[in-house]
Order: sequence, then structure tokens, then C-alpha cells
Amino acid sequence: MNSCRVKLKNKCEVAENAMTFEFEKPRDFRFIAGQFIILTLIDPLENDQKGNSRPMSIASAPHEDYLLVLTRLSDSAFKQNLMNLALGSEVEIKGPLGSLCLNKDISRPQVMLAGGVGVAPLRSMIFYSVHEQTGHKIYLFYCNRRPESAPFLKIFQKLESAKFHFIPTMTRMNTSKKQWHGECGRINPEMIQRHLPKLTDSDFYIVGPPQFVKDLSSSLEEAGVNKKDIRTEVY
Ligand SMILES: Cc1cc2nc3c(=O)[nH]c(=O)nc-3n(C[C@H](O)[C@H](O)[C@H](O)COP(=O)(O)OP(=O)(O)OC[C@H]3O[C@@H](n4cnc5c(N)ncnc54)[C@H](O)[C@@H]3O)c2cc1C
Repeated sequence: MNSCRVKLKNKCEVAENAMTFEFEKPRDFRFIAGQFIILTLIDPLENDQKGNSRPMSIASAPHEDYLLVLTRLSDSAFKQNLMNLALGSEVEIKGPLGSLCLNKDISRPQVMLAGGVGVAPLRSMIFYSVHEQTGHKIYLFYCNRRPESAPFLKIFQKLESAKFHFIPTMTRMNTSKKQWHGECGRINPEMIQRHLPKLTDSDFYIVGPPQFVKDLSSSLEEAGVNKKDIRTEVY
């Protein structure tokens, strides 16, 4: 596994409690859209027993000239240090790792189910597919509490096309000050079938918190989706 140091080029609050971190991409760093890195902070100010490293998906696509990381903030020492990292500071990255990537068979719809920042590797895959015009038909179901807490919401809305169907859904609109005309409630097979003609013959990608991934995997299997067609990443 390759390991190297990279500098923080930019950071941005992209939604409530969620930030992106843009790191320089070494010239020889090659990865497949959907892969992740192990990000290690160097000599951090704060420490806790959970350590200085976390697996983090690469949210940027291979053609973009930086490595983008998206994360939900927490009070862990790692996240606090990352949030306060000064531009120009170095971190260590190991990777790329992981095999979550688009199916080469473009005849099968690629159905992506994301909970919150679980959208990170899917952003990479979607941007890759749009940029390279791979021909995949992609459906992104994206679940958040409210629009304010949904990273990349506007970016995905702008990207919609015949090849990219974006279905955001909110679970707590009663706490939002924004107007919402889209789906509400959790993603489930019934919601998916309102937008996708047929559940079988598609590839599913589920990324998010453990319960989100577990519930959706089992409800899809109960609805007749073959286990081998479901790929998951648990955050
Ligand atoms: C393949 C993969 C990709 C991921 N990509 C992303 C991403 O793009 N964005 C993102 O936000 N998150 C991502 N995650 C999750 C991420 O690695 C963190 O686990 C998550 O963000 C929570 O970190 P935290 O510091 O807020 O939480 P915490 O719960 O404080 O820390 C979680 C980490 O601490 C460890 N830990 C927990 N308790 C203890 C203990 N008592 N002693 C020692 N260690 C402990 C866990 O094993 C885990 O590594 C990914 C995870 C995986 C597996």
C-alpha cells in the first residue's frame, strides 16, 4: 500500500456540521472512482484513545486535480484536529483502497443509496461517469434530515440529466426553514420503485451508517434483489 504526505489546499463547510477538505493530489496517485484512503493526522494537538487515523472515501473523481474528503464533524479528537487544520498543513494518506466501483456493464442501472456523508464515494463515481461519458444510467437516492444538512445537494440537482436521476429525500422537514417539494421519509424499496421501473437487473450501492446499510440491504433482498447485486460500505 502506498503512503505519502499531502498538503491541505482548501476546506469548506458544505452543509450543517459537514465539511470538505481538499488535499493536493500527488502526480503518481491513481485511483478508481469509489475508493478510499486512510488519512492520518501528523502530530495533532488533541489526542484520544480512538487515534489519529480514519478511513475516508475519496469524494473527488480521478480526473479532478485534488483529493476531496467529505466528513460530518464530531467531538472526536480526530475530527476536531481535522476541522482546525491550517491550510498548507500536511497529512499522511495511505491507499487507494477498496473495491466499491461502477460495474463495467453499462446496460445495468446503477442505483446508489446514500445516507448523509455516505454520498462521498458516490460523488466520485457520478462525476467520473458524467465526465468520461461512460454511458451508465445512474439513480442517486440521497437521504438527509433536511436540506440544510445535505452536502452537495445543489451540485447534484444541477447535474441531473437523462443519465443521472437524483432523488433526494428528507426525514425531518419539520425542523427545516426551507421549502421542500421532493421525497420525504426514509429510502425503502417502495420509494425506489416509484423512480426505477424494475428493482432486479440493477446494481445497488449502499453507503452510510451501519443501521442504514443493514436495513436497506435486508429490505432490498426481501423485495427480490439478489445479494450479489448489492455492494455496501459502512461508515
Ligand atoms: C471504507 C470507509 C470509508 C469511509 N469514508 C468516510 C468518509 O468519506 N467520510 C466520513 O465522515 N467518514 C467515513 N468513514 C467513517 C470514518 O472512518 C469514521 O469512522 C467516522 O467518520 C466517525 O469518525 P469520528 O472520529 O467522528 O467518530 P469516533 O466514533 O470518535 O471514531 C471512530 C473511530 O474510532 C475507533 N474507535 C471507536 N471506539 C474506540 C475505542 N474505544 N478505542 C479505540 N478506537 C475506537 C473506530 O474503530 C473508528 O475507527 C469511512 C469508513 C470506512 C470503513
